[in-house]
Amino acid sequence: MSLSPVWHPFTQHGLGEPIPLIERAQGAAIYDADGRRWIDAISSWWVVTHGHCHPRIMAAIREQTERLDQLIFAGWTHEPAESLARELVDITPEPLTRVFFSDSGSTSVEVALKMALGYWSNIGRPRHRILVMEHSYHGDTIGAMSVGARGVFNKPYEPLLFDVGAIPFPAEGREQQTLDALEAACREKPAAFIVEPLILGAGGMLIYSAETLAEMRGICARHGVLFIADEVMTGWGRTGTRFACDQAGIAPDIMCLSKGLTGGAIPLAVTLATDAIFEAHYSTDRAKTFYHSSSYTANPIACAAANANLAIWREEPVAERIASLATMQEQQLARLAAHPRLTSQRQLGTIAAVDIVADDAGYLSDLAPRLIAFFRECGLLLRPLGNTLYVMPPYCIDEADMTLIYDGILDAIEV
Ligand SMILES: *Cc1c(COP(=O)(O)O)cnc(C)c1O
Repeated sequence: MSLSPVWHPFTQHGLGEPIPLIERAQGAAIYDADGRRWIDAISSWWVVTHGHCHPRIMAAIREQTERLDQLIFAGWTHEPAESLARELVDITPEPLTRVFFSDSGSTSVEVALKMALGYWSNIGRPRHRILVMEHSYHGDTIGAMSVGARGVFNKPYEPLLFDVGAIPFPAEGREQQTLDALEAACREKPAAFIVEPLILGAGGMLIYSAETLAEMRGICARHGVLFIADEVMTGWGRTGTRFACDQAGIAPDIMCLSKGLTGGAIPLAVTLATDAIFEAHYSTDRAKTFYHSSSYTANPIACAAANANLAIWREEPVAERIASLATMQEQQLARLAAHPRLTSQRQLGTIAAVDIVADDAGYLSDLAPRLIAFFRECGLLLRPLGNTLYVMPPYCIDEADMTLIYDGILDAIEV
């Protein structure tokens, strides 16, 4: 076999790790050409919600390809985008009334930041500082990296990243410090505060309370600081409710959605905003236009997939599947309880995580690659974040596969 020219993401090719060639996927599993099966225990990087190749989403994509493939979205529109936007406004918190399309979580965050800065500029009170939460992740473009945690992932680019104000993570028992720090930072009139609601994903599946989320939102509201909820990972049922903000009963000023928006079948993202943010850009003055576009903004095929996802949410027992997955996670996680090498068991809805006690903790420890290789051998697609092991499968996974995942984890920590 000749050497592949493909440069993979987050992959150190120099370590020569094997890269399996996958031919098809169904439900909670992926298969190679020989029929070898792996359980997709991380939903192919947190995107697949209902299961791979959900027939309804696949059919919607097929049907849309018969009609309209792509359309310039500046000055033109199409029904898949119109109906999707209408329904997104219906199901997201009430004050969110405007939907801007893009094509990835990172771009939805860039759009959110530009909307916030555009708002302040257009109302004649320019503000530029962004507040962020410690350990956050918001994507890998320069702007999204700037509002995320600094570390080995972005060291070479550091001089180009813009300066932000970091609020400490509200770990249990230390919530007040977070709230005090946010309050103090808000007095300096920043433009916006961006957060991953309830759980920080790439930062290590760090969970904080809905009360703290609500209080943080309240502080921003009192100070007139825009509140951006990055629900790129938490959206679409991951945390137990459709959106994480729902658990705190809050409405952000701006909300980012991607990953599960199409059920995980095809890239699409949206940034929702309030009337106030839209109104700040609404003018006969062309200089106040929101100047942002991706070539594939609101691609009709991707919108059709998202509409099928919404139909699944309306017509299939999605909430029940999520509740039953949450119960299975709880039961399986209990099997790890007594293990001396595992600490900080935690769960939020369909997401379960545990930390491995190791001398060489941290993302660059060689623990993660060794574990990934071990899991690959035993039929599991699992990808620890440093020494944090987490399980985040599609909602269709069954009890037998869940047991295999946790069997694999117990075996792995013995080797
Ligand atoms: C994955 C993720 C992003 C980036 O999304 P991409 O589609 O990979 O660009 C942004 N924010 C959060 C919270 C994420 O988990």
